[in-house]
Amino acid sequence: MALAAVLVFAACQEPKPQEEELTFSVTPASLSFKAEDSSVKLVTVSTNGSWTATPAGEWIHLDKTSGSGNASISVTASANTEEVVRSANILVIGNKEGSKEQQFSVSVTQEESGNHTLVPSPAAFDGNKRSSTTYQLLVYSFADSDGDGVGDFNGITSKLDYLDALGVTALWLSPAHPTSSYHGYDVNDYNALNPAFGTEADFKSLIDKAHEKGIKIYMDFVLNHSGSNHPWFKSVKADPAGSPYRDYYVLSKNYSAEASSGKIDNYGGGTSIGMGNWHSLGDGEIGYKGRLHFKVQTSGGKPSKVTVTQTDGPVTGSVSNPALWIYAGNPAQEYPMEKTADNTYEVTADIDTPWGFLVRTVSGNSWPDGTKFGAKGGNNVVTFGEPLSLTTSDAQDIVFGATTYYLASFAESMPDLNYGKYTECEKSPAFKATVEAATKWVNMGVDGFRLDAVVWVYQAQARANVRFLSEWYKAVNAAYKAAGHADDIFMVGEAWYNGHGEETKYYQGLPSCFEFDYWGKLKNAVNGTASGYASAVMSFIADHAAQRGSTAPAAITSFHMTNHDQDRAAGELGKDLAKEKQAAAMLLTSPGKPFIYQGEELGYWGTKSGGDEYVRTPILWDKAGKECAKKGVNNKVDNSMLKAGISVEAQLEDENSLLTFYQSWSRLRNTYPALAEGEMTQSSISGSTIASWYMSTGAQKLLVIHNGAGAEKTVTVSDSMAKPVALLGSATTSGNELTLGAHSSVVFEL
Ligand code: MG
Repeated sequence: MALAAVLVFAACQEPKPQEEELTFSVTPASLSFKAEDSSVKLVTVSTNGSWTATPAGEWIHLDKTSGSGNASISVTASANTEEVVRSANILVIGNKEGSKEQQFSVSVTQEESGNHTLVPSPAAFDGNKRSSTTYQLLVYSFADSDGDGVGDFNGITSKLDYLDALGVTALWLSPAHPTSSYHGYDVNDYNALNPAFGTEADFKSLIDKAHEKGIKIYMDFVLNHSGSNHPWFKSVKADPAGSPYRDYYVLSKNYSAEASSGKIDNYGGGTSIGMGNWHSLGDGEIGYKGRLHFKVQTSGGKPSKVTVTQTDGPVTGSVSNPALWIYAGNPAQEYPMEKTADNTYEVTADIDTPWGFLVRTVSGNSWPDGTKFGAKGGNNVVTFGEPLSLTTSDAQDIVFGATTYYLASFAESMPDLNYGKYTECEKSPAFKATVEAATKWVNMGVDGFRLDAVVWVYQAQARANVRFLSEWYKAVNAAYKAAGHADDIFMVGEAWYNGHGEETKYYQGLPSCFEFDYWGKLKNAVNGTASGYASAVMSFIADHAAQRGSTAPAAITSFHMTNHDQDRAAGELGKDLAKEKQAAAMLLTSPGKPFIYQGEELGYWGTKSGGDEYVRTPILWDKAGKECAKKGVNNKVDNSMLKAGISVEAQLEDENSLLTFYQSWSRLRNTYPALAEGEMTQSSISGSTIASWYMSTGAQKLLVIHNGAGAEKTVTVSDSMAKPVALLGSATTSGNELTLGAHSSVVFEL
């Protein structure tokens, strides 16, 4: 019967010296013995006393020196802290009762102490910025040069060194035109600049000085709507029928019926009226003074139709326990209705109402849900003698003459511009006027545009929007080329849908759009669910490229964390600095065009719950707290955040701050063309908390590995780890194993 003896070499860890983690290996890692003679009963194992170790000393320890049967004997070895090869012999003796012992020795070696701490050694930056990183800047709250507390063009110019050190190659400026709001998304003149921000000469100076630092200027262009104080709209409001600008806006006296029959060009061929809001221009004789007879029919106990007729008959209205009232006049009065037949109520009254009337099922000052009945939107004009349908859902005042309504998708103060039939949008006066304005800024040196709310130009009709954007891009790009540029102009659209998919179609019209689904993927990755990150990013890019096809210029996906309309990134990450740094590291090592939103580099937090201003906080430049354009957001700031420690001055002095981290990894992106312009491919390094990919261009290839977990993770790397060029957190190698600390990232040049 054969006897097997197994010798197990177990690695044990000594207490960690300093911060470096020590693990080691013994070769061979385990040994097994088999006595050739089946009658062997006892195996004795000992060190032979003459083995050598370098340095000298006992580092092999046997837990026992003898055993029998299948007893295993474990061996431990002390940590090899000396980074040298050690070797030893172990003598194994097998005793057979009444017979000569058999013995042999086992040679054991221990390799160099395994763990090498990675020390990144990036190549020198050649000074040629190539990162294609854009900084989203709020003109009103970035930097104030003239002491009025509102950001301005000269303020931006004075901070170009800051932006240059941040490695950005372009600025997206919030709307810079005259406006009635602090944020500027209600433009009152596309051909002028907001005087609070400076003069055209100031703006030109900003453009020129930015260009000297390799920084382009992109303007925010609000195509979907103007401000209600734009002279075009004021003219329409003053004279809806006669204004020469009436075609600039989407006007209707009966929008419900007109939309349903496809007569409103701006709906892009669709007949849905579910989107956008209509507001009255206040024209027309909507009120009435005189004697009228009202008859309300009910259905299911609820008012369903009203018929109004002019009459000379006697006034009625003395009713006990009325169930319905006509509500009209200013001040408003209630006229109780008499039940005259099943489901029918009537009243004759002298009314004097400037605004029309409503039907209600309660009397008094309160209007509980479901008690107010009016007309359906766009179908609220009385025709005497004809029944009009009633509704309690979004009930509109019932009026006596047609008023003109205008479409305003976002707010009453932002009337939508009208580009006519999408198939010939380029012929519309609004199209020509906006292209002419964009051309003016291109001729001044502007390098591109961010286009606001492009989904709403044709009310979410992608086909119509795409044709419009394609035509608008072509027209402005022609002006850009005429200004002497050899390349194509950059434009990025805000095609914001719930979820990746419909937005991809907009690449048929524009070279770039924001990928709003990216932030969710990035957030998941730094919260530990990282394995799907690289494939998601590659899918986004592939989907956009497929939609763009061979149209020039090629698609470039714009990636960002959050923007001025979203809760802040740092808050979403629990104000966890390690996660904020890793989110930046992932953004800046990914392909596409990264956007950094003002304050993101400083770790600003804030939510929209208290007002949009709280996600649009001014930069705090100095520790003393004096340099901060708070008036740009009407002083709506979170003073618990705007403290010295978060200031630019403090963070520049701290080599571990988020700001210095952004500077460092932006420099990395600028240094390596493979990061800035390269193609992403998946690496084989796996693990649920690991995001890993290659970035390659030409002969340059980088391996990027991020551990999104809050604990260390060891992975096997088949590529060379000899040239680490960037490190966030901690990383050690042992052989082909890489151990990344919590929220740690590393980039190797291959
Ligand atoms: Mg100012």
